[in-house]
Amino acid sequence: QAKEQGGNRYQLYTAEMKSTDFERMELEGHLRKAIEREEFELYFQPKLHLHSSGISGMEVLIRWHNPQRGLISPATFIPLAEETGLIIPIGAWVLRHACEQAVNWQQAGHAPVRMAVNLSPRQFLSPDLIATVADSLQETGLDPKFLELEITESTLMQNTEKTLNTLRRLKEMGIRISIDDFGTGYSSLSYLKRFPFDMLKIDQAFVRDIAHDRKDAEIVAAIISLAHSLDLDVVAEGVETEEQLAFLRAHGCDEIQGYLFHRPMPAREFERVLLDRTE
Ligand code: C2E
Ligand code: MG
Ligand code: MG
Ligand code: MG
Repeated sequence: QAKEQGGNRYQLYTAEMKSTDFERMELEGHLRKAIEREEFELYFQPKLHLHSSGISGMEVLIRWHNPQRGLISPATFIPLAEETGLIIPIGAWVLRHACEQAVNWQQAGHAPVRMAVNLSPRQFLSPDLIATVADSLQETGLDPKFLELEITESTLMQNTEKTLNTLRRLKEMGIRISIDDFGTGYSSLSYLKRFPFDMLKIDQAFVRDIAHDRKDAEIVAAIISLAHSLDLDVVAEGVETEEQLAFLRAHGCDEIQGYLFHRPMPAREFERVLLDRTE
């Protein structure tokens, strides 16, 4: 009896595994065609100066409109793209279109706003990265000082000599570098000393409960002071409430990003934000 149940469970398990594998393969197939089918769209989320509420920059966030499945979150497909290597062409597409959009807005007369593009570890470590970035800048004419690249701690854990070289070259090109999701990776803090960063982004996992959880509050306060003592600007991600904002203000956080002010939005909508801006 027990053996039979065990056997059934095993079968069920493999059946699930197969359907999962199949779904993944199907998703991968769709992902492979998504660029040529023009199914990706860039959304933009403002980052604000905390003291003035003026726009300090924006983050570019990819969206995938799949005809069968509807909108698929990057949290779902970026890891798959990363695993399969598809992140290389997708990432190049994002960079190119982000630079193009930034230039279009400048040419339309909007005061320039820094644009931050996310890079996953595989993109960052790809031998083509520098050329891809340089081409995007050159072909669109975007001044590199308006480009920022966001990388995570997991990128920094790998292959440090190469990482350091790549970061230096990007810095020499005049590009800003930020550390995304700070505090959630497994890397040591020594990279803060070694690598030339401009900005540190506090992950929303720490920001979420700052108003109620004493430990989160202490961690965020410590990250802000650590960043400032290393001459880095700090931005808090995922700010959703006035209480979080008040805490961040009291602790001298430089910039904020979150639903409290703006959700990520399509280019058309972002244009209205640029027009309404006070600074
Ligand atoms: P991330 O770079 O840490 O981006 C911040 C995420 O937090 C975004 O999710 C954003 O929509 C979300 N967010 C912003 N404000 C709030 C808030 O107040 N509350 C909550 N709950 N969430 C907020 P999104 O757009 O789903 O992107 C998820 C992740 O996917 C990004 O995390 C990034 O790691 C990756 N990603 C997105 N676009 C790209 C891309 O073009 N290239 C690469 N390599 N990765 C990307
Ligand atoms: Mg990011
Ligand atoms: Mg983040
Ligand atoms: Mg994240």
